[in-house]
Amino acid sequence: AIQFQGVVKRFGDNVVLDGLDFSVAKGDRVTLIGPSGSGKTTILRLLMTLEEANGGLVYVDGDPYTHEMRGDKRVAIPEKRRSLVRRRVGMVFQQFNLFPNMTVLENIIEAPIHVLGKTKAEAIASAEALLEKVGLAEKRDERPNKLSGGQQQRVAIARALALEPEILLLDEVTSALDPELVADVLGVLRNIAETTDITMLIVTHEMQFAREVSNRVLMFDGGKIIEEADPDTIFTSPTHERTKEFLRAIL
Ligand code: ATP
Repeated sequence: AIQFQGVVKRFGDNVVLDGLDFSVAKGDRVTLIGPSGSGKTTILRLLMTLEEANGGLVYVDGDPYTHEMRGDKRVAIPEKRRSLVRRRVGMVFQQFNLFPNMTVLENIIEAPIHVLGKTKAEAIASAEALLEKVGLAEKRDERPNKLSGGQQQRVAIARALALEPEILLLDEVTSALDPELVADVLGVLRNIAETTDITMLIVTHEMQFAREVSNRVLMFDGGKIIEEADPDTIFTSPTHERTKEFLRAIL
């Protein structure tokens, strides 16, 4: 579903991604782990088009994502095509970023109406089903500030799903939450992983989450993938010295 080919991202002299190659198959749940500053969030931000790569190519289902080769030249693809591919990707952030002046339901139906062109009735019907799925049906008419952090994050997940993404990016979605609220959010994500074929790319420091939800773990260091394995293998018997060190430090 996603392919990175020789992706380079620099901030000034800081080379964050140094010719990164990897691919994620449809329905894969991939967790990116690695030390602070290793470029994990940058990968998600590239996929949200919040950052632009300096080199290399990204494909989504074989379609060029932001740039393509024309002859031997790397050129930006036209905005119209870009927004069509862009629409296949949804993201949930650490800070839930809900619209504070809208109700829970309004938060969820906004984009389906304005981006997908759904009718209000259609958008409401699917929003209600999603609220059911994240266990918040009774909160549909509340404002976000009346909800706990965990509930707000579950609304943010429902809002991302309302755009019917093929790929869902999750950036530290539990790290702003009190520990007792983390389990509910993880439960919702586990349920989505079990009941849909949405491809997930997850950045988290919660190794339990990585273990329960993902089927592949990629260990980043210095802008490269230094080790990759299924969660059981990487957490119980990592091979790379840097991975061992990293896991020792956080587990
Ligand atoms: P963490 O685990 O701390 O979230 P990370 O692996 O997600 O780290 P990134 O957030 O992707 O790392 O950052 C990678 C590097 O890019 C860091 O050195 C960071 O300082 C730098 N960086 C990220 N965004 C910017 C920006 N907008 N301007 C300048 N430098 C940036």
